[in-house]
Amino acid sequence: MNFSDFSLNPSLLQAVEESTYDEPTEIQKQSIPFILAKHDVMARAQTGTGKTAAFALPILENLLSSDAEQLMIRALVLTPTRELAQQVHRSFDKYGQFTELKIGIAYGGVSTKKQIQDISTGLDVLIATPGRLLDLVRTGNLSLEFVNTVVFDEADRMLDMGFKDEIDQVRKYLPIEIQTLLFSATFADDIYKMAKSILINPKIVEIDDKNTAAEDIEQVIYSVDEDRKRELTSFLIGSRNWKQVLVFTRTKQSADHLAKEMTKDGVKSVAIHGDKSQGARDKALLEFKEGKIRALVATDVASRGIDIKDLKYVVNYELPYNAEDYVHRIGRTARAGKSGIATSLVDVSEEWLLTAIEELLDIRLLKQWLPGYEPDLTKSKSTKSKPTSKKTARNKALTGNKIGKSRDDNNRRRRR
Ligand code: AMP
Repeated sequence: MNFSDFSLNPSLLQAVEESTYDEPTEIQKQSIPFILAKHDVMARAQTGTGKTAAFALPILENLLSSDAEQLMIRALVLTPTRELAQQVHRSFDKYGQFTELKIGIAYGGVSTKKQIQDISTGLDVLIATPGRLLDLVRTGNLSLEFVNTVVFDEADRMLDMGFKDEIDQVRKYLPIEIQTLLFSATFADDIYKMAKSILINPKIVEIDDKNTAAEDIEQVIYSVDEDRKRELTSFLIGSRNWKQVLVFTRTKQSADHLAKEMTKDGVKSVAIHGDKSQGARDKALLEFKEGKIRALVATDVASRGIDIKDLKYVVNYELPYNAEDYVHRIGRTARAGKSGIATSLVDVSEEWLLTAIEELLDIRLLKQWLPGYEPDLTKSKSTKSKPTSKKTARNKALTGNKIGKSRDDNNRRRRR
């Protein structure tokens, strides 16, 4: 399938061509026709799947083919974070670069002046975070009366961040007859609830996670108490029969201690870090490559440049203080098209580090509990961990996929 099969405006096809996309991704193949046909859509897709183009291209096409007055905000995209707003804005700019359409952005934390100026000169598409959008509407600087398509991007994250009220408020300012598109990384119960209240006869699009354009690394997060991490690491390596594992710690002391303890657990381990001589490091690495050592316990600095062919497993025993180090760490696996599993053990004091990683990668990393290693919630009330059963709940929700089925299908739009 080609992008030209969607019969998009030549100016959009030109932008796609310049982006050197060979063919539409799965989410694009499935969503674009529905959006072009003005259906409501509920789509499950993560960042990295090409989801932005999946809604941006058909929205731009619909704007180009409509004879409505230009320079009125007719498409609104709501995002949970400023970073995502900027990313989506860049995508719209890229895909719309050969059109006359004007794309604007509005998010909090910066002065409203420039945003108000942009809005007053006329926009066709606005990408915004909910809080700032409401500010602009309430102060009379923005009208949403001509919006005919609204996108809730990363809706799950919006709910997680407590934007439910803002979403409800924004909807009050939107026209009654409107195309609504909901994109979410998960279809958890709260997303179904939201979908039921805002979508009319939606087309459901779900893509297999295997089809993501993102690197082929499975990222697994276990919430666990700090004092049980060592035991859990040895358990995972042993019970899952991982033969060659790179384990990361934050400090040299922690690396030394962990390697010793894991060896006592029966998982032969050696630590490498900056205090070890080059000779000792080379020897450890060689033995690891040859399979004489099962776990190499490394600090971030020591791990730089280590390239172990076919390494499949990485464990983040402690999350790094620098989110970019996380990317380097997990990038040790899944090299050259191979798949890999990166498992992170996160105790309650590290939640903020996980959030920083999620922000950097612009994805949500679902925390799980491994039975027998559940964190003791009585120790800290601040944990926000969710049990593994969330996945089961999600699957259950998916099988109960009945949204809109009871409503008539004759283009009835929402009435309030
Ligand atoms: P997104 O999931 O929207 O964040 O997109 C992830 C990345 O995939 C972005 O860098 C896009 O430029 C890129 N992308 C989007 N569509 C395609 C495509 N059809 N082929 C290749 N890359 C794409």
